Amino acid sequence: MRPEILFPLFAETTRLQGVGPRLGKLLNTLAGPHVVDLLWLLPNGVIDRRFAPRIADAPHGVVCTITVTVVEHRAPPNRRRPYVVSCTDESGMLDLVFFNAKADYLTQLLPVGTQRVVSGKVEHYNNSYQMPHPDHMVAPENIESIMGLEPVYPLTQGLTPKVLRKALDGAMARLPKMPEWGDAPLIARERWAPWNESLRAAHAPATHEALSPLSPARRRLAYDELLANQLALAMVRQHQKRRKGRAIKGTCALYEKAQHALPYTLTGAQRMALAEIAGDMAETGRMLRLLQGDVGSGKTVVAFLAMLGAIEMGCQTALMAPTEILARQHYQSIEPLAAALGLKIAVLTGRDKGKARRALLEELAAGEVHILVGTHALFQEDVVFHDLAFAVVDEQHRFGVHQRMAFSDKGAGLDMLVMTATPIPRTLAMTAYGDLDVSRLDEKPPGRQPITTRAIPSSRLEEVVSAVGRSLEAGSKAYWVCPLVEESEVIDAAAAEERHHHLASVFGERVGLVHGRMKAAEKDAVMEAFKSGDVDILVATTVIEVGVDVPQATVMVIEHAERFGLAQLHQLRGRVGRGTGASTCLLMYQQPLGETAKARLKVLRETEDGFRIAEEDLRLRGSGEVLGTRQSGLPTFRVADLAVHGDLLEIARADARLILDRDPDLKSERGQALRVLLYLFERDAAVQFLKSG
Ligand code: ADP
Ligand code: MG
Repeated sequence: MRPEILFPLFAETTRLQGVGPRLGKLLNTLAGPHVVDLLWLLPNGVIDRRFAPRIADAPHGVVCTITVTVVEHRAPPNRRRPYVVSCTDESGMLDLVFFNAKADYLTQLLPVGTQRVVSGKVEHYNNSYQMPHPDHMVAPENIESIMGLEPVYPLTQGLTPKVLRKALDGAMARLPKMPEWGDAPLIARERWAPWNESLRAAHAPATHEALSPLSPARRRLAYDELLANQLALAMVRQHQKRRKGRAIKGTCALYEKAQHALPYTLTGAQRMALAEIAGDMAETGRMLRLLQGDVGSGKTVVAFLAMLGAIEMGCQTALMAPTEILARQHYQSIEPLAAALGLKIAVLTGRDKGKARRALLEELAAGEVHILVGTHALFQEDVVFHDLAFAVVDEQHRFGVHQRMAFSDKGAGLDMLVMTATPIPRTLAMTAYGDLDVSRLDEKPPGRQPITTRAIPSSRLEEVVSAVGRSLEAGSKAYWVCPLVEESEVIDAAAAEERHHHLASVFGERVGLVHGRMKAAEKDAVMEAFKSGDVDILVATTVIEVGVDVPQATVMVIEHAERFGLAQLHQLRGRVGRGTGASTCLLMYQQPLGETAKARLKVLRETEDGFRIAEEDLRLRGSGEVLGTRQSGLPTFRVADLAVHGDLLEIARADARLILDRDPDLKSERGQALRVLLYLFERDAAVQFLKSG
């Protein structure tokens, strides 16, 4: 249950004074539905209103705060002309200019003959001085309220700074006094103020430096957020470890046989990963290990071989993929090996229904199926194993911690291996997985050709089309990835359809199309035709699956490459270079390219090392953007930015570990404060793992 102290912060923003449903909607778009969401909306700039010249000394285009006397109101003759309020001081005249003004409002606010302090940008216009739509107009006694550094917030269509400011003030007024959850020596060393003060300081920058993520106030807030993240992960892990596991140690009989059945020898990295996995499984604790490796690094066979130990002991195993296509592909690649060893393997997805499904579930419950491959259909309640001991989740970041937990309920003491092809920087991996053990496949299977990567402006489209034509002549296949126009499948699909149309006019029937708006069965059919049929060019939006394996594909064209994240480009590129033919990746970009975009494309041309690419991406763009897509499943932070707060993450991790060592159920005074922290950052799910108290 959420601690009471946080209730005011988790109220809807519409509970704030002056915030009605319409404004609430805007605030929701900008920040979120709750008061607390507004608190995390930090200023991204300041306007200096301390410059207070006489009218005659006010420069063009500069924000000034000027004390004036109102002389006269001039209502416009028609709606296209502005309403003007003329003012003076001892040095000259200043016209306040308003378009679409309400006369009543202005006459009340600026009575003729009174003094007013106005603040805004001054413009020189035909020998006159104007201030169009002043940001502030107050009585002289209120000058203090406006003459300072004014924070500037991100806005959204329909929301004015003044209205937002008022909502923010309302939110700040609700701040409860929080208990201190931070580590006392750390706080002393960093000279951090308490949370409340730090938050206030972050919202009231006294200097331009105060806007920096490196300012003490922002560092403190970032640390709190990272601590909540690391503590929650450590708690999940503690929970996992507290549950009894079992020691899985096979005879290696199947493993020996598999070695002979494989058409290749394992790479050193694969053997190392297998040894690490076998080591974990042999222990009584539950395994939770991450297997990280680029597309094509050979994770699937590692997963399969790791299963054998459990099968030798008479247990069952499962492999879950994020999509239908990937599940079936895993099934197809494992099936021949399983058959060679006399093992029964089955596949179960959302599409399997009726009699066949029931029959499969019966076999599964009877323990006759050794390996079950599937999608999240495996989570369904009626999917019951006889004795599931080992599960592999090929997650590509699409499953969260919770789904992983749900899986672990399917088998007693289940060991779990999570595979990911997304090369994430160490810091990001830590925020997603905490202290998860990691095996890395950092060595490609032998015989792979390097991929030649080139960046080409989109104006040279026709050259690219002919180059693709030439490689088709030579018997290869090509992917053509279409621009990600917006976060809108409709528009993306339209762009892909247009490109498909164009390419089909050149290459005819050999061009296929897949996009997110197609039905799964249609998509699968096109993918299948590309894999083993007459489709030689596959036009696609980014729906093409990360792991889809088509060795004859040697050309990857990516339009508007500047719009993709580096990791995403790297993954897309990883779909070629899987066979023995030399491959090419053409990154088409729209000119002109910004500096960052240029640097990013350069990184891709220079290296195929996914881990290096991921680190560079983090450095160039900051953590919020690294994986580009929202569905990446990686945690996003409100204040913390891993590109600059990496040191705080390390500290938070060590801190989280120490906290749980000393106070595993967060019962001490600091423990109670930490519970508040977890709820503040909405890590509620983790709290359920604590014994109550
Ligand atoms: P990942 O799942 O990491 O993307 P896969 O397991 O799909 O990679 O492997 C890609 C391809 O490489 C598959 O066709 C697989 O048979 C092959 N492969 C895997 N390991 C080796 C190896 N050690 N030597 C040669 N080929 C391998
Ligand atoms: Mg794979």
